[in-house]
Amino acid sequence: MPEPRRSVSVFGATGSIGRNTVELLHYQGGAENYDVVALSGAGNVDLLAQQARKARARLAVTARPECYRALKDNLAGTGIEVAAGTEALAEAASRPVDWAMSAIVGVAGLVPTLQLVRHGGVVALANKESMVAAGELVRAECARAGTRLIPTDSEHSAIFQAMQGQEADRIILTASGGPFRDWSREQMATVTPEMAKAHPNWAMGDRISVDSASMFNKALEMIEARTLFDARPDQIEVVIHPQSIIHSMVGFRDGAILAQMGPPDMRGAIGYALNWPQRRQLPVEKLDLVALARLDFEAPDPARFPALRLARQVLEAGGLSGAAFNAAKEAALDLFLQGRAGFLEMADLVEQVLEILGSHSKIGHSSHILQDVAEIDAEARRVLQGLPLRMGG
Ligand code: NDP
Ligand code: MG
Repeated sequence: MPEPRRSVSVFGATGSIGRNTVELLHYQGGAENYDVVALSGAGNVDLLAQQARKARARLAVTARPECYRALKDNLAGTGIEVAAGTEALAEAASRPVDWAMSAIVGVAGLVPTLQLVRHGGVVALANKESMVAAGELVRAECARAGTRLIPTDSEHSAIFQAMQGQEADRIILTASGGPFRDWSREQMATVTPEMAKAHPNWAMGDRISVDSASMFNKALEMIEARTLFDARPDQIEVVIHPQSIIHSMVGFRDGAILAQMGPPDMRGAIGYALNWPQRRQLPVEKLDLVALARLDFEAPDPARFPALRLARQVLEAGGLSGAAFNAAKEAALDLFLQGRAGFLEMADLVEQVLEILGSHSKIGHSSHILQDVAEIDAEARRVLQGLPLRMGG
């Protein structure tokens, strides 16, 4: 029996996750099976217009007001509605759909994510920053609207798949270790943005690639896991697994561990979220276990990857410390990408912000108010801007 046509939207359609999502929609029948309500991007107007035409989207929205004209001209005569700016983005995310992908990078994805989850349906969540900064708020809105959140970060998709509705005892996040897994601290001090953008196993956007190299990505994922799976800090573990075949594991009280495996290809997790609760054929390589031959595991080194230690601190502190951590990390990453802070300096800066903000009256409390999250986010960025930089830039 043919399945009913589903209405869908993709936020961050022009990014690494977004492009894969749009391609999977075409792979699974395109406009014949999907009524594409909205696609969003930011600066990459040509790609957004191209995607909107091909998918016969109703609305294309760019986050940047200055890109409106170019997008409008590009889509002239197509009948596709065009909009620009953060308010337009939020409005687009409030249009009800059966399924939506939240894949904007950074905390800029928080408001669109909140709008998406407020309007029901299934929301595939790649934008981990919204869970780190405001996980409880996102969850409360999901509960209120009856929205089903499907984790789409590969680790959290793996945990969701392995959990099978049972109570987990351990959440074991795997980490590839990134390009500098075996490097000394002295070597890591010399890392440039170009070096850090090249991930050995995964093809991802630039920002998450650098976060993977510094393990800030894993740190965010630890905090994301706590809220997504209601886990206690001591239940969340990280193990280095250089092959990136096991995407993560769940341990149960009887000692059993269930692992989810697959090639390092985000189309696996995106396709799982798109087809949940079913499984379908995906354009993903089938693993050859004999060719792989072995899977390795090692402990992460906290001295070279201080981001993991900082994540533990945030897990213990709870409240709004995730919002401070994420904002400080985003601002430190900006400085690194601009050549103004060193690779290892990012963790030092974030640590100082957490120390300074530790006494902020709101940080120790969890909040379901977006304004509180925004306040801590802004305060963390302001504190970080005031810190002296080693490079003096
Ligand atoms: P990319 O940088 O490749 O893409 C980001 C997307 O967000 C683009 O569509 C971009 O538009 C848009 N965008 C950028 N800035 C803004 C803004 N201020 N407001 C609105 N939209 C904006 O990122 P990824 O696809 O790599 O990552 C997306 C999210 O998914 C992140 O939260 C990341 O942590 C998470 N994730 C990614 C994985 C991956 O494999 N890439 C794996 C697991 C999680 P444009 O390009 O047009 O400027
Ligand atoms: Mg991940």
